[in-house]
Amino acid sequence: MRSRLPDIGTTIFTIQSRRALELGALNIGQGFPDYPIDPRLAEQVAAAMRANHNQYAPMAGVLELRVAIAAKLTACYGIEVDPAQEITITCGGTEALFSAIQAVIAPGDEVLLFDPAYDSYEPAVRLAGGRCHRIPLAPPAFQIDWQRVAELIGPRTRLVVLNNPHNPACTIASRADLDELARLLRGRDAYVLADEVYEHVVFDGAQHHSVLSHPELRERSFAVFSFGKTLHVTGWRVGYCVAPSALTNEFRKVHQFNTFSVATPLQVGIARHLVAVPESWQGLATFFAAKRDALRTALAGSAFELRPSAGTYFQLLDFSATSTETDLEFCERLMLEAGIATIALSPFYRDPPRLQLLRVCIAKSDATLQQAAEKLNAFSRGLA
Ligand code: PMP
Repeated sequence: MRSRLPDIGTTIFTIQSRRALELGALNIGQGFPDYPIDPRLAEQVAAAMRANHNQYAPMAGVLELRVAIAAKLTACYGIEVDPAQEITITCGGTEALFSAIQAVIAPGDEVLLFDPAYDSYEPAVRLAGGRCHRIPLAPPAFQIDWQRVAELIGPRTRLVVLNNPHNPACTIASRADLDELARLLRGRDAYVLADEVYEHVVFDGAQHHSVLSHPELRERSFAVFSFGKTLHVTGWRVGYCVAPSALTNEFRKVHQFNTFSVATPLQVGIARHLVAVPESWQGLATFFAAKRDALRTALAGSAFELRPSAGTYFQLLDFSATSTETDLEFCERLMLEAGIATIALSPFYRDPPRLQLLRVCIAKSDATLQQAAEKLNAFSRGLA
């Protein structure tokens, strides 16, 4: 059979989680919470099922949920969004990313991505017949090289993907970054795909700069969000895309024949929970900052250098002081010798530089984080 994606295998996240299970390793690699969800949210979904919200949801999403999202966007960013024309509920952020890419990319179009990049972007672009330019965010600070972006933007550029807060770099974009992007796209027939699934996980009093709060970018952006991250329910697969009505119209043409619609009782339950318990998302930064700080404190004396984490639910560990191994080699050794699954950074690149960084997920119970720190500390003592 002629593969459309011959070089694409199983994602590093799936592989590491599967191996962690097989080897009985502690999994702090793949980004998913291991603690219970808010019972009030579970009850809202159960109540929605009992009230017979069990048949096809509208293609664009349950209106009650879209209205709740619009109110949340007003509360967060002071913007007005039309729930009828500008919000579509999707099967996780992943479907929103995929559908937006299929909606705008045609054969021959070019897309700009920043490496390290979340792994779903490029295959979606290639399936649409497009081609990606991948611009490295240079470590250690992982800042965007706007000069390089300016050089690569051309008449074929149809889309720029901006992941903010950034997984796995754990950086956040500034207002100046958004201004620069807007300036470079001015007068061009090009769009922005803003992957903002970690919008609420921004630390140390910083503010999340959404493309939706940037009037010029708002006009040409698909902004993608995920209740998996915001409500700690990655397995529910509920996300959404916010875009101006003309873009949403094209987006829905793809969504309609991709997933068609998303689980009805989940949408109804989430809508009611957002209204009843707004603290659920308002408290996220504090909740995750405490976890980040607990892990950093517990690893303070270890051989790992803890890179700054300005956002997302990840933390980067630099092991360059103790080993000359590649990140993949070191990651494997941690799995086999320390019994702990982490994620290496090089798979997020097309052409990985020499990186000695591992990504760990802080969306874990305090007990899991403590246990992870003990394992990492013991391993690091062995190295010394
Ligand atoms: N974008 C980024 C940067 C992510 O980290 C993730 C989840 N790991 C997604 C998108 C996908 O989100 P979802 O689970 O809602 O599909």
